[in-house]
Amino acid sequence: MKFELTILGSGGAIPTLERNPTSQYLNIQDRHFLIDCGEGFQIQLRKFKCKFSKIDNIFISHLHGDHFLGLFGYLSTLSLLGRKNPINIYAPKELLNLINAHNQISGKIYNFDLNFNALNFKKITKLFEDNILEIFSFPVNHSVPCCGFLFKEKKSQRNIIKAKIKDLGLGIGEIKKLKNRENCVVDGKSIEYKDVTISGNKARSYAYCADTKYDKKIIPFIKDVDVLYHESTFLEELKNKASKTKHSTAYQAAKIALNSNSKMLILGHFSARYDDVEKFVQEASSIFKNTVAAYDGYKYQIKN
Ligand SMILES: [Zn+2]
Repeated sequence: MKFELTILGSGGAIPTLERNPTSQYLNIQDRHFLIDCGEGFQIQLRKFKCKFSKIDNIFISHLHGDHFLGLFGYLSTLSLLGRKNPINIYAPKELLNLINAHNQISGKIYNFDLNFNALNFKKITKLFEDNILEIFSFPVNHSVPCCGFLFKEKKSQRNIIKAKIKDLGLGIGEIKKLKNRENCVVDGKSIEYKDVTISGNKARSYAYCADTKYDKKIIPFIKDVDVLYHESTFLEELKNKASKTKHSTAYQAAKIALNSNSKMLILGHFSARYDDVEKFVQEASSIFKNTVAAYDGYKYQIKN
């Protein structure tokens, strides 16, 4: 089952010919999520063959222009395409005023319901849950209120060992219980789920740490994730600038990856002053080996 991240924009605040502002698309078992909406992301969705109209949930980390100004264009396009399904937006509360103003001055164009959910910048908060997945926001440390997002599959059912069905005469009800880690009794004989099932698919996870300065307080929120995206606007040579503008260096992002026991680190939000982002990978790899630099169109599939 798919758990695939597509980077739509990997640049910092100023777009370049190679890098759009921040935006990411995530497909988890046919659920389609958008994380931040920098300008131009609609074209990137088309270019990188993402499901343009299937996105039902949009997560916006903070209200710096490079993270949300593409939203209005997208909502307009959805209206033109005749969207009827509701769309859910998770964002700082002030954005609702802008969305309403946009709808109003454009002549009430939205022909779908828009469910707006204000982010909590004080604590980790569950935003979404269904039968396979949970999504949380968590506060990060930036110059305006800002959240990261954690996407986490639920523990899947265990798989029954086929031979045991016949041997023990298991019925559908019993199989269901055993797969859900419940023991049961068949013909007076107690059966432990561990004896007749094997573990199912591993639950996968992805954490998005949007614009933030280096802050150890983030670590507990993202412990043991499979893939961590952490911004790295600067290299260590500009660490004072990073601290002043509440951004991170590649080395600091790697420290967060290392101490959170993440399995892989994706760096992004590179300042437009840098041409060669391999330097970011080198700097981070000195303490966290499994590091890559995002580029527009980069796709990564998290395997079971
Ligand atoms: Zn920012």
